[in-house]
Amino acid sequence: MELEYWLGRGVEAFREWARTYGEFAAHPATAVGETACEVAFAELTARLRGSYPFFHPCYAGQMLKPPHPVAVAGYVAAMLVNSNNHALDGGPATSAMEEEVVGQLAEMAGLADHLGHLTSSGTQANLEALFVARESRPGTGVAVSAEAHYTHARMCHLLGVPVYTVPADDRGRMDMGELERLLSTGVAGTVVATTGTTALGAVDPLHRIVPLARRYGVRVHADAAYGGFFRLLADGKADRKADRKADGEQAPVAPETGDALRAIAQCDSVAIDPHKHGLQPYGCGAVLFGDPDVARFFRHDSPYTYFTSRRPHLGEISLECSRSGAAAAALWLTLKLLPLTPGGLGAVLAAGRRAAVRWTELIGASPYLEPYQPPELDIVTYYPAPPGSSPPRLSRVGVASKEVMHRGMNAKEDPVFLSVARVTAPAFTARHAGAVADGDHTHVLRSVLMKPESEPYLERLHRRVEQLAKASWPAPRGCGR
Ligand SMILES: *Cc1c(COP(=O)(O)O)cnc(C)c1O
Repeated sequence: MELEYWLGRGVEAFREWARTYGEFAAHPATAVGETACEVAFAELTARLRGSYPFFHPCYAGQMLKPPHPVAVAGYVAAMLVNSNNHALDGGPATSAMEEEVVGQLAEMAGLADHLGHLTSSGTQANLEALFVARESRPGTGVAVSAEAHYTHARMCHLLGVPVYTVPADDRGRMDMGELERLLSTGVAGTVVATTGTTALGAVDPLHRIVPLARRYGVRVHADAAYGGFFRLLADGKADRKADRKADGEQAPVAPETGDALRAIAQCDSVAIDPHKHGLQPYGCGAVLFGDPDVARFFRHDSPYTYFTSRRPHLGEISLECSRSGAAAAALWLTLKLLPLTPGGLGAVLAAGRRAAVRWTELIGASPYLEPYQPPELDIVTYYPAPPGSSPPRLSRVGVASKEVMHRGMNAKEDPVFLSVARVTAPAFTARHAGAVADGDHTHVLRSVLMKPESEPYLERLHRRVEQLAKASWPAPRGCGR
């Protein structure tokens, strides 16, 4: 797939379509000179060099990677039209594509029936789900795990809904005993379960949360913004291509994780971000509801839209107004070529997942690194190991982790880009009993291996990080190392 070629084809197709409407003159007010454009464009591209190389496997930090070239080509082709998927008046062609891709996402999630739409982000998708939760269960609060994305507390604050935090277990998953204790008090009308937390990639046990919540008449929202696409790996059978690559390796996610991901099908609402693991540029989240009747909560009228059709407009079932039709077109084209199957998009996720498992093995075998916890999806957490057999002291773990990150990204030669996650002292000692808790929190290293290219690059990444870790452990006062 040659991006240059397909970008050109998009421009050509637009011009061809435009010509069917006949000639008209461009207005001089919008004219820009070629030379001025040359200068300004050069400045733009130079300034973009100030970014981190998200496209390269030496970038193993946050949840960032470029969109697939197919998504870029689809986006540009549709952006030239610049349709607005708020209403069918603004984007008839791309609204139809949006309905199709939302149907595909709902099918992947396993929802028997659905109402849904794309959003500009996972935050917006979660906001809409929490808004419907508030309207459906007036006067009650929302239960979220301590490891849930901070957006839930912010959005609940915005909606005027109380938040109840449920502690997480020693793998970063919602603690079921604590959840039951909370639900038995009757204060929560909705549970937010995260299937793939942002920090650790931990998957809350949704298959146990749903029946528990039902017993108490409580709604369940799955925040699958990050992890939703791992549903493609939940049935244990990797695609044949991936199988060959993995050489008989087992199911790409653990059976319990698969159970949790399959339980998304029973949730009242789901947030899922195609701009996280769906190969899309930013501006593409999605919210899905199991009960199409929740449309009643969105009902509103507009004096200047909704004229061209009696069919419901996407804006009539969403809180956002203007929304990119190009985002729908980009996802539509991507899913045509990399469908939501284990062998389609699933093969992309499976490579990152295998890389995470393999790297954790290498880290476990290294004298210079220690896994923080085993990865449940494709996020690896680890820290520089103290020398010899001395126990890790939390203050030093944090200093050493940040040192590795900074040295890696500032290296003139062979840079490597990692990220850190803040973890509490009880969370750390729950995973590493011998650790010395000399503070209330520390930082560990975190690498999101969301690019399939991380898999073949892994040995090199590991060697480089190991080298940095070796030099990073702070020497105790008085004796150098
Ligand atoms: C990324 C993320 C969000 C927020 O989504 P945005 O698209 O960044 O607004 C919410 N929840 C989880 C679990 C996420 O990973």
